[in-house]
Amino acid sequence: MEREKALELLRKYNIERLIILFLCCGMGLLASCGQQKEGQLKEMNVLLIVGGHGFDEEPFYAMMDKLPGITYDVAEHPDAYQYLKPGKIEGYDAVLLYDMPSEIPEEAKKDFIAMLEKGTGLVVLHHAFCSYDFWPEYTKIVGGRYHHFPWQKNGEEQPPSTYKHDLVLDVKVVDSKHPVTKGISDFQIVDEAYGGTEILESVHPLLATDEPASAPLVGWTHHYANAKVVTLTLGHDKQAWENPVFPQLLSQAVSWVGDCKR
Ligand SMILES: [Zn+2]
Repeated sequence: MEREKALELLRKYNIERLIILFLCCGMGLLASCGQQKEGQLKEMNVLLIVGGHGFDEEPFYAMMDKLPGITYDVAEHPDAYQYLKPGKIEGYDAVLLYDMPSEIPEEAKKDFIAMLEKGTGLVVLHHAFCSYDFWPEYTKIVGGRYHHFPWQKNGEEQPPSTYKHDLVLDVKVVDSKHPVTKGISDFQIVDEAYGGTEILESVHPLLATDEPASAPLVGWTHHYANAKVVTLTLGHDKQAWENPVFPQLLSQAVSWVGDCKR
């Protein structure tokens, strides 16, 4: 009897030790997720996807090369989806979309969603908000949609979304405590604006403008599966990229979505 009692105690003790060990490991993981030091960005390896929309490459890549703490590979459509495949995507902390395809193959949809289920962060930049007209799930991923065609809102038909270049936008930081907007005050930027777009109520607003030709929000966060998502509709050309606020916003967005990979 004594021996059985002793064995039972030993089993219980080991189980308790295992529970404590698991708890400690969990706390450790949480702690390492929050290890981003004050004012210091964690090193991020980013997959930049382009294609389907032209842009002035030289100044864009000049801006990308200067982003603090970020290294990146460029994948261009139609081959870009290969990088989303299991076995490849794990090499990246975050995916930065600066592409604008209207269609996506079925297999790529699965890889895209699987990537978000793995917790790979996603930043959707400017015209990448206008991608995938015929893939409704993209709306749920990025937190809204640029509609190239008439669309329905509360049973009423809405006209297609619009764009207008070279506007001087007064941008208001609506959540200055968020890691993506930290250290950024209200600013002015010369940029293209998208109007009449759909923005889901589930987004967390970061940047707003009262420019009539623009949607009320030009930046927000969203979540999809296990991934953090940031959508910034700013960033048409070098007038925006060379604004000192822009690279700060972009690097903080990448840093936030790419941190604490789940
Ligand atoms: Zn544009």
